[in-house]
Amino acid sequence: MNPRFPVPGGPTLRCKGWRQEALLRLMENVLSVGENPDQLIVYAALGKAARSWAAHDAIVETLKTMEEDETLIIQSGKPIGVLKTHAAAPLVIMANCNIVGQWAKAEYFYDLQEKGLICWGGLTAGAWQYIGSQGVIQGTYEIFSRIAEKHFDGDLHGRFILTAGLGGMGGSQPLAGRMANAAILGVDIDPERVAKRKAIGYIDTVAPDLDSALAMIDAAVKARKPASIALVGNAADIYPEIARRGIVPDIVTDQTAAHDLVYGYVPAGFTLEEVRAMRTSDTARLMAESRKSIVTQVRAMLEFQQKGAVVFDNGNLIRTHARDGGVENAFDIPIFTEAWLRPLFSRAIGPFRWMALSGDPEDIRKIDDLVLRDYPDNRIVTNWIRLARENVPFEGLPARIAWLGHGVRTEVARAVNRMVASGELKGPVAFSRDHLDAGAMAHPNIMTENMKDGSDAIADWPLLNAMTLCSSMADLVVIHSGGGGYAGYMTSSGVTLVADGTPEADLRLKNALTNDTSLGVMRYADAGYEEALEEAELKGIRHLKLA
Ligand code: NAD
Repeated sequence: MNPRFPVPGGPTLRCKGWRQEALLRLMENVLSVGENPDQLIVYAALGKAARSWAAHDAIVETLKTMEEDETLIIQSGKPIGVLKTHAAAPLVIMANCNIVGQWAKAEYFYDLQEKGLICWGGLTAGAWQYIGSQGVIQGTYEIFSRIAEKHFDGDLHGRFILTAGLGGMGGSQPLAGRMANAAILGVDIDPERVAKRKAIGYIDTVAPDLDSALAMIDAAVKARKPASIALVGNAADIYPEIARRGIVPDIVTDQTAAHDLVYGYVPAGFTLEEVRAMRTSDTARLMAESRKSIVTQVRAMLEFQQKGAVVFDNGNLIRTHARDGGVENAFDIPIFTEAWLRPLFSRAIGPFRWMALSGDPEDIRKIDDLVLRDYPDNRIVTNWIRLARENVPFEGLPARIAWLGHGVRTEVARAVNRMVASGELKGPVAFSRDHLDAGAMAHPNIMTENMKDGSDAIADWPLLNAMTLCSSMADLVVIHSGGGGYAGYMTSSGVTLVADGTPEADLRLKNALTNDTSLGVMRYADAGYEEALEEAELKGIRHLKLA
């Protein structure tokens, strides 16, 4: 936890009820574990918890004073007003960064941001759901595991993974790689980001230069020992240099914030200070330089691919910018969702998280025990929870994320609500899931690339999802679109629920979580995925199949 941005745990309420208190603690939590909380920035280059400090303070004050039968309206990180609704309505609804289609361009977004009219919510930042780098860690681990199964006889011992970007989300890669038993090298241009991941134990060693980094990787590969090594450097320099030396990693990806050519990616040949100055003084040149470096980096990734490496895009639009910069075959690199995870999404299995509002890690351990006891045959989850328990340190409020699907999410959340009611847990627990979830995201270059029925860019699904959640008693619901480099590329929806041990919470959890995943299965069933059609049949989801 960041001592300058503490999150109070314990039983003392500052609000008129636990639902309001929970959302307040979650907002405090995203700042506590965020990358640059002084600027309200949580992760993904520009993803903010609130539009400004004035907006932040007004949100805090409103959550402290609002009643249970009221709803706070937030527009792109700024509180707009409070409406009288009813106790089963969401406490908070948000619309973050939705710009009309023809205007949804990065430059127009930067302009609006400059005028203080909008901010990007970075998906889980503005929705107060981010739990630190661990949030994406199982996703990355599952990708490495799927690659291991498909290409390496299920075993990454003695395998070399090359990646870049060790920020808010990308910072999870070294730990995920080590947990998957590989020797992983992560490159980041910013020594402070590297130091942060080293301090929490995600990185074993920071190499002083490329020669030493490669020697450490080589030694780990030969000894078949898991290792996570970091190197401060620019990926646009390091990737081609590794290729030039004739070294071919087994797996290559990248999780720099390449989606944003101004605030995310740092072009080669510039210092961080120069880039920070250019963000306002010479945006056009910075965008051109970033694209040029991305072209160089992606060409190296394609070279690795041609020489036999398993290369994939880890959800940051790096291929898109490379293609725009002239790399016609950039999309020879597959996206991780389509390549590895779609069968899971078809059954609405995706990243589901729970946060102990008491601040007591013991609460999370008790929920781990519950999941291990009740779902012994769910290999993905039990394997993950055992590994996470040993390897993933808590940041901020103790939290766990695990890939659960339809039915199981509802059962776990309701069981936890009972544990809160009985006093077995020290305090209430909040649940949310990633925006990268079955029914919740339209993102044609990431989540919905190459959908079976061609429905990649249809944003009706996340909008239907948010409306479903509002009518299913969720506590917080957000409709969200891309900002900065993601402007015009995506729409998603998010949801948070609070298990405070009451019968009302039981009903909210049952309705909202069941309907959320039902819609996820329906979205994939509608697109013709066999797994989704089977899941709907098996679980009694009333998907209407038209001829
Ligand atoms: P971040 O802004 O917190 O971190 C980005 C990091 O990249 C920084 O540490 C920065 O120093 C580094 N970097 C930038 N340019 C570089 C270069 N040329 N060479 C080396 N390092 C460089 O962003 P984040 O939250 O870690 O997200 C990274 C990307 O992943 C974003 O595009 C984000 O949208 C995407 N993302 C993907 C998923 C997923 O599910 N796969 C989830 C969340 C975020």
